[in-house]
Amino acid sequence: MRFIRDIYAARMAAKQPACGAGADSDPDIAAATKLEADAMDPNTPAQRRPVISFEFFPPKTDEGDRTLLEKQIPALSQAKPDFCSVTYGAGGSTRDKTLMIVDRLQRQHNLTALAHLTCVNHTRDEVRALLENIRALGCKNILALRGDPPGGGEFRPVPGGFEFAAQLVQFIRESGNFSIGVAGFPEGHIACKGDKYADWRHLREKVDAGADFVISQLFFDNADYFAFRDFVAGQLGVRVPLVPGIVPILSAAQITKFTQLCGAKIPPPLRARLGELGGDDAAAVAFGIEYATRQCEELLRAGVPGLHFYTLNKARSTVQVLKNLGLA
Ligand code: FAD
Repeated sequence: MRFIRDIYAARMAAKQPACGAGADSDPDIAAATKLEADAMDPNTPAQRRPVISFEFFPPKTDEGDRTLLEKQIPALSQAKPDFCSVTYGAGGSTRDKTLMIVDRLQRQHNLTALAHLTCVNHTRDEVRALLENIRALGCKNILALRGDPPGGGEFRPVPGGFEFAAQLVQFIRESGNFSIGVAGFPEGHIACKGDKYADWRHLREKVDAGADFVISQLFFDNADYFAFRDFVAGQLGVRVPLVPGIVPILSAAQITKFTQLCGAKIPPPLRARLGELGGDDAAAVAFGIEYATRQCEELLRAGVPGLHFYTLNKARSTVQVLKNLGLA
């Protein structure tokens, strides 16, 4: 299984051979990048392709597990993602399933996996044990997150735990050779005590602590992502990939709930269209594919390093968006 930092570095090196990301600064990355780049002809479509990744969440039921593992993941793996990530629950039984799904992705589908990990209700010793489990599975990649308190309200670290994701990043960095991703918020984080610029400065702290790449929260107005990228890369000098997170809408009610929870805005024209779609989920799926395709087209024209799809554990829409883009 590969380090995700190497996947981004190799793809960016193929795009711009003279200034591959990280190639000048870190000899390990430079060596790995060269291996990856040598392994593939930079002129092939595979190397020109943006890094494509899919996100899954552990289902709550056995039936959900079967559908994800036996239908949706096999269907999505046909689209040849560069890696797949698995979220980590706020508590309860789904937490154990994250690593089970990571294991299946790697062993059964030969896919590079990214295990999400949060600070919620974990001491440092527990995190150390989880890192051992992740390593034992051969997984080299962790998305380091603070997480949210299970019942809502303000986040409070447990004694001996972490208050912010940056501390978790540093701990993972000191614990071994993992490629580490973090979350970024193009509209600012919903609970940030300052404005979005304050939140973006906190993102830089995560990168300074050792994060190799950033995956963004979902957004529907590309202008938000471009403003985020301009500030974080341009003003703050962050050099790691800032990967946009895309969700193909599956239902008007579901996306309204998600955006309320995570604080992403629905632009007025999109809100009006969702209102027209109402409870017609088939029409919402078709519209969601079209909207995500247009969003991705513009992002790709603007040179994004990759596209991270919130699949919502459903293959059809994500695969169709990639087909529309000529990427599957
Ligand atoms: P942090 O970076 O720690 O930020 C949390 C808040 O603290 C922000 O408001 C930030 O501005 C502020 N802050 C940071 N540092 C400081 C500081 N030094 N001083 C003051 N304020 C500070 N949640 C899950 O439970 N499981 C998942 O698997 C999961 N996957 C996700 C994947 C992606 C791609 C994204 C975008 C989000 C994901 N989340 C997940 C949600 C995430 O855990 C929440 O949004 C959480 O509230 C913030 O996590 P963070 O890692 O960005 O935290």
